[in-house]
Amino acid sequence: MTNTTHRTTCCIVGAGPAGVMLALLLARAGVRVTLLEAHRDFERDFRGDTIHPATLEIVAQLGLAERLHELPHVKAESFKFVSPVAIDTAAMFSRLPTPFPYMMIMPQARFLDFLVAEAKRYAHFELVLGAHVDELIEENGTISGIRYRAAEARGEVRAALTVAADGRFSRVRKLAALEPVSTSGAMEILWFRLPRRPEDTHDEAAIEVGPRQICAVLGRPTEWQLGYVGPPGRYREVKAAGIEAFRQSIAAMMPWLADRVGALGGWDDVSLLSVEGSRLAQWHKRGLLLIGDAAHVMLPVGGVGINCAIADAVEAANVLSEPLRSGSVDEAHLAEVQRRRESVTKFIQGFQARIRQGMVSAFESGRMFRLPLPLRTILRIPGLRNLPARMTAFGVRRVRIERPEEIAAAATVHRRASSTR
Ligand SMILES: Cc1cc2nc3c(=O)[nH]c(=O)nc-3n(C[C@H](O)[C@H](O)[C@H](O)COP(=O)(O)OP(=O)(O)OC[C@H]3O[C@@H](n4cnc5c(N)ncnc54)[C@H](O)[C@@H]3O)c2cc1C
Repeated sequence: MTNTTHRTTCCIVGAGPAGVMLALLLARAGVRVTLLEAHRDFERDFRGDTIHPATLEIVAQLGLAERLHELPHVKAESFKFVSPVAIDTAAMFSRLPTPFPYMMIMPQARFLDFLVAEAKRYAHFELVLGAHVDELIEENGTISGIRYRAAEARGEVRAALTVAADGRFSRVRKLAALEPVSTSGAMEILWFRLPRRPEDTHDEAAIEVGPRQICAVLGRPTEWQLGYVGPPGRYREVKAAGIEAFRQSIAAMMPWLADRVGALGGWDDVSLLSVEGSRLAQWHKRGLLLIGDAAHVMLPVGGVGINCAIADAVEAANVLSEPLRSGSVDEAHLAEVQRRRESVTKFIQGFQARIRQGMVSAFESGRMFRLPLPLRTILRIPGLRNLPARMTAFGVRRVRIERPEEIAAAATVHRRASSTR
């Protein structure tokens, strides 16, 4: 039974980075938004925690950079591949022409809390937590909203546009009968954490490589987040060998962690991420747009997932704010969002698939994984060496909020109007 009906202009399903950023930008532009999230909070550990310079520049355009930097975080100025035979600096962010020449590492939950708190300042923003979207409302061939179930009731949202930002297992995508095509085989990552000591001097972001071993190391203020990477089936293999063997292999690969691998209590402390790259051929239907992981699942290579999701949201707001405000949004606008983001997404997924293939070959042959030779060559040429950092930081094309002043002005008028009600 339906208990609650919301009427809004844009209904966004999923409060991950894509959904939250789009909701904030639209609400700020004076568009009524209802954002639905299945969880009751944002506390999901081991998510994309790497905020790249492109995203920081967008946050700065919103006038929020200073406040974001007041939250606990770590800055990684470079991203290295470290093996017993070589150290390849894949990205040196500190050489980039940007006010934020680093990758900020912050738990995604804190970043989302921060953006949601900002969105709540706008009267046009509505957040419904604990709402599992399980039905699309379709009328005359157009999606005109969704239905959801919450703990105590069912509800529906009627909207001019529904945006699916509900992640890689997107329910909305399935309900809309849109089938993604695979862009790469799967990768497994076993995420876990170990304590950080004040005397640790390890880089804040690196990939450690050993024989049939690859481990991502990311700094957090009081701990190290570690991601043990492998091809499909690696988790089963590692688990079969036992937790003590896993601890010892980490200690052998990274002797600076040998004194604390015991802090890894058991497999309950290890979280498996198995992910396969994929992409939709078409990101929209009449009345429906898909963005972020719902439209294209990225591999973890380069930690670009959040940043791509946010870039999608920014382009969606650039294209859709005005037509949503004036009630004239149509499928051509949705196609324009896809046009702006698709080629960049394809390019990044192609690059990620190549790196993954190199990793799988190294595991199969027992060789030590190294970055592809053309990439290592580029990294040694002074005029070109910043290219990989630039690509990681900004993607192929810098995405910016278009007309930020105009949007802020629309929102200010709205806030004044709402405060006099
Ligand atoms: C373990 C892990 C580690 C990762 N590490 C990195 C990293 O280091 N760097 C990086 O950039 N990326 C990383 N990623 C990927 C990154 O988290 C994603 O690419 C990014 O979060 C995608 O954002 P999104 O908003 O599209 O989707 P998501 O972040 O997946 O958000 C989707 C939201 O929709 C909600 N939802 C789902 N179904 C429904 C429904 N039916 N009704 C209502 N709500 C629903 C979900 O609860 C979720 O909150 C990682 C992902 C995982 C899982």
